[in-house]
Amino acid sequence: MRLTVKLCLAFAAGCLLLSSGIALASGPANQPCVPGMLLVNSKPAGAKVYVAGYFKARTPAEIPIPSATCEGRSYRLTILLDGYQPWRNTIELTSGETREVGARLVALGVLEPELEAIPSAPSAAASQTGPVICIDPGHPSETSDGCTGPTGVTEIHINWVVALKLRDALLAEGYRVVMTKSKENQKVTNRQRAETANKAGAAFMVRLHCDSTAGRGIALYYPDRQGTRFGVTGPSRAVMSISQRYAKLFYPACTAVLRGHEPGRGIHGDSATFVGSKQGALTGSIFARIPVLTAEMVVLTNRTDEAYISTDAGQRLMARALVAGIDACLRAK
Ligand SMILES: [Zn+2]
Repeated sequence: MRLTVKLCLAFAAGCLLLSSGIALASGPANQPCVPGMLLVNSKPAGAKVYVAGYFKARTPAEIPIPSATCEGRSYRLTILLDGYQPWRNTIELTSGETREVGARLVALGVLEPELEAIPSAPSAAASQTGPVICIDPGHPSETSDGCTGPTGVTEIHINWVVALKLRDALLAEGYRVVMTKSKENQKVTNRQRAETANKAGAAFMVRLHCDSTAGRGIALYYPDRQGTRFGVTGPSRAVMSISQRYAKLFYPACTAVLRGHEPGRGIHGDSATFVGSKQGALTGSIFARIPVLTAEMVVLTNRTDEAYISTDAGQRLMARALVAGIDACLRAK
């Protein structure tokens, strides 16, 4: 630190000499070299702020950065609070500049210790800093290609096109997004889908499906019991508890957007599904180490639902409803 201050002062003297002796008209070389300043807030407050790996203060904090140069430098900023997902970003700061940083911390309490060392997932937009949402467009998987509507609309297609609209809507809101597959017909096992979300350190995984049952409209599933698959028992009780809490926040916000278009079929445990009744939980839930919800968006075998979700307007409304559900979970604090 002392060395960088000295360098900065020496540079400031250089700036002064240049500006008085040679009288440069403009440019970074004739700006005075004074400290930069970071104003860091977090929600909730009281979080530890680290700059370039060094602890500086707890939020809300005013942190002078003496090493900021006239040309600007990048600083690694990390904000940590017990029980919350680490917040990381890189901030560009020029001497004399004051920069405000706001961090919305996401409570998880479910990240396994080894996951914290995994760098954040590649995102569709690198500048995004919001929580990572994993979107899992269901099917094809090791178990099924999904269902088909009365006129031949496939679940694979609907899950995929709604996922793309959901991805774009989330990115527009500042979330980061990880998808479990990159092409509509890409086959991915349910275990791989959960592991993609785990590796990304996702705050939340939403699995998109369409039902083939009686009735109409959306139904929401969360892991209500542990299940066993490939000799692995899961998810953890922490994941089940947060997933249940998220289901109760997600469902009313989501169905409020769909009201008048699509009815709701309620919140259910994974154990009420065909696979869940045999395994205890859906495979994608068993391997999830992050909160997970499965949305059976419509009853695709119902003619009205099939027609509705086949339209661009219907898909957009569904994406908006899913964003409202995700917002209700992650922005409720
Ligand atoms: Zn399905």
